[in-house]
Amino acid sequence: MESNFPLRKIIHVDMDAFYASVEQLDNPKLRGKPIAVGGSSQRGVVAAASYEARKFGVRSAMSSVLAKRNCPELIFVKARFDRYKEISQKIRSVFFEYTDLVEPLSLDEAYLDVSTNKKGNPSATLIAKEIRQRILEETGLNASAGISINKFIAKVASDINKPNGQKTVNPEEVLQFLADLEIRKFYGVGKVTAAKMYQLGIFTGKDLKTKSADFLGEHFGKSGHYYFNVVRGIHTSEVKPHRIPKSVGAERTFNENLSSEIFMLERLDQIATELDRRLKKSDIAGKTITLKIKYSDFTLNTRSKTLTYFISDKDLILETAKELLYQEELQNSVRLLGISLANLNTAKKEKTKTAQEAILVQLKFDF
Ligand SMILES: [Mg+2]
Repeated sequence: MESNFPLRKIIHVDMDAFYASVEQLDNPKLRGKPIAVGGSSQRGVVAAASYEARKFGVRSAMSSVLAKRNCPELIFVKARFDRYKEISQKIRSVFFEYTDLVEPLSLDEAYLDVSTNKKGNPSATLIAKEIRQRILEETGLNASAGISINKFIAKVASDINKPNGQKTVNPEEVLQFLADLEIRKFYGVGKVTAAKMYQLGIFTGKDLKTKSADFLGEHFGKSGHYYFNVVRGIHTSEVKPHRIPKSVGAERTFNENLSSEIFMLERLDQIATELDRRLKKSDIAGKTITLKIKYSDFTLNTRSKTLTYFISDKDLILETAKELLYQEELQNSVRLLGISLANLNTAKKEKTKTAQEAILVQLKFDF
């Protein structure tokens, strides 16, 4: 092998329309119908939409009002997170039949490193097929998968034959696959970044590859380095079985906008209590406290303060959050408040990664 770093076999498994599919599974009357998991109220947001609803342009994170306008037949179903967690556990135990290197991204998504696996199966493609079959047997639900040499490509690939499909990008196909990939499909490129890329004349991976590391760094900061590497098939991030959180937070959206400071302080106290509970549960402390304020006109304001010592104590967090609240005049009535703690005592220094050109073409590698 001529590669400068170990090649891995990574699978990204992603359940299809997860929350919505669970609801259709548990309630046959909802099957084949356009449904949205989430609240139907004025402030409701779609957490997940069934494929029938997606045909009408209903998407997750869309306001329920807009969703209903797009699809008048839309049926709203309340989220049942306990049930989703229960199924998520079943899915994870399927993963563990194959490898212990499982990195969950959310309840319904995970990366698996099957380079060496408990079944001794050299084909990641066949393992993905088996896993999807096992998930179907265990839960009655469909999953899709992407298979390739790193997390970035596996993640992008799992979307390609969705729903209920999978896509392998073999080592020798990687560079061409990335060259052909539309820039907005690059994982990590959101709407804002995509617009910026277009302005710079970057529409595909091929365009991206013509730009120097310096050029990308200049326009995209730290992310520039990431874009420079991933388009060359380089993404050295390992599948991390236990994800170390970068921050821990709690927040609340209110049914009525708050304009009285007394009510805000009351809510801050509740939020700090919740945050305190989460910190204690994971035995975490941090140095940076951030207060998040969303106004009734949806503008977002965050204010932070970094201390010289670690705190995890509710009273200290609340005091700092209050201080941040009073720091400036409130611009408007408030619809959401949140407190988070970052700069955690769990953070480890990441190893410096050096860029190398991936030599993938000559590789003989069983996929
Ligand atoms: Mg999913």
